[in-house]
Amino acid sequence: MNHRELFFRHVAQTSPSPLAIEIVKAEGALLVDAKGKEYLDLIGGISVCNTGHRHPKVTAAIKKQVDEYLHVLVYGELVQSPQVLYAKLLTDHLPASLNTVYFTNSGAEATEGAMKLAKRVTNRPKIAAFKEAYHGSTQGALSILGDEYWRNAYRPLLPGIVHLAYNQFDSLEEVDHSTACVIAETVQAESGIMAPSKEWMQALRKRCDETGTLLVLDEIQAGFGRTGTLWAFEQFGIVPDILLLGKALGGGMPLGCFIADQKLMRQLTADPVLGHITTFGGHPVSCAAGLASLQALLDEGMMNGIREKEAFFVARLSGPLIRSVRTCGLWMAVEFDSFDINQQVISRCLERGLLTDWFLFAPQCMRIAPPLVLTGQQIEQACAIITGSINEIAGA
Ligand code: PLP
Repeated sequence: MNHRELFFRHVAQTSPSPLAIEIVKAEGALLVDAKGKEYLDLIGGISVCNTGHRHPKVTAAIKKQVDEYLHVLVYGELVQSPQVLYAKLLTDHLPASLNTVYFTNSGAEATEGAMKLAKRVTNRPKIAAFKEAYHGSTQGALSILGDEYWRNAYRPLLPGIVHLAYNQFDSLEEVDHSTACVIAETVQAESGIMAPSKEWMQALRKRCDETGTLLVLDEIQAGFGRTGTLWAFEQFGIVPDILLLGKALGGGMPLGCFIADQKLMRQLTADPVLGHITTFGGHPVSCAAGLASLQALLDEGMMNGIREKEAFFVARLSGPLIRSVRTCGLWMAVEFDSFDINQQVISRCLERGLLTDWFLFAPQCMRIAPPLVLTGQQIEQACAIITGSINEIAGA
């Protein structure tokens, strides 16, 4: 059996039609398959590869760490320099109240940890989340996922969850003195890049303050420069009580975290002790990779020019079949009339060497979330492939 056959035979499948392309190499914004065909990567591993695939400083940091130690002990016992130095770099670039990092293996685990922490800190039973929100696929994260189709088959879910309308002032009234936390994406990803108004975000912060509710912002997709600032919440003039990071956090290695003030985080050390346990969370190789990746993002000014790149895309993405283009930095949803049209565009792009996909709750929208290092020439090439594919479909 070849690798593709083994993939279908022995690797658990969750998609009825996986891409099933065998990748043999990735670098910058390019992927190469087993036949030597190159693909321009317009989704960066779904907002993971912000500094590009295999950034040389990231691979060097990984190699160095591999030569020193791999896993040594469960989370939180030993001093591991990649972990502490990464926690320092992250908190140096965050507001003073976000000063303590709990590293996990994934975004979903960061969500779980934050939900538990909010319950411990407030001693309250209720959690508010938003419609069309995605925070992960584990039971707790699934319980706050904002779409009935995706969660219904897994009932019973966690009790005490309410789903509010995002970016709607009325919905804030449901945040009350029994609410432990409100969990929101700073910019909703899977609903097709929906940024709320600054006024609403500030009203949400105010409502949380009035009711003693913790505000948890999920920047697992929005973080690390994707929206044009290091953190998306900077654009709203507010600070969350707990910040969730993942995806680009590990520079291509698995890593998540939740970040809060030490006063809050201390709750996890008593009654019960070991309030949140992980064997591999904050793995030294993942932390070494993430640390090098964030340092490269900052040192190499990768956030410079994001607005220009965004405008460059927007100027070139017009024509038949496109209903709208929603953008937030190098993060876009190109909207068509239907999932069917979107799928046709996506598969023609793939044939022409461009990798993109759709959004969970907006299947009619095509995702653009490339490595931030995408060049002007690559944007030109990507847009030519997209518009060429669309024209072909429109003319057919
Ligand atoms: N939150 C958001 C906004 C996400 O997009 C995702 C993953 O797509 C997650 C949480 C969950 O992260 P992970 O897949 O690492 O568990």
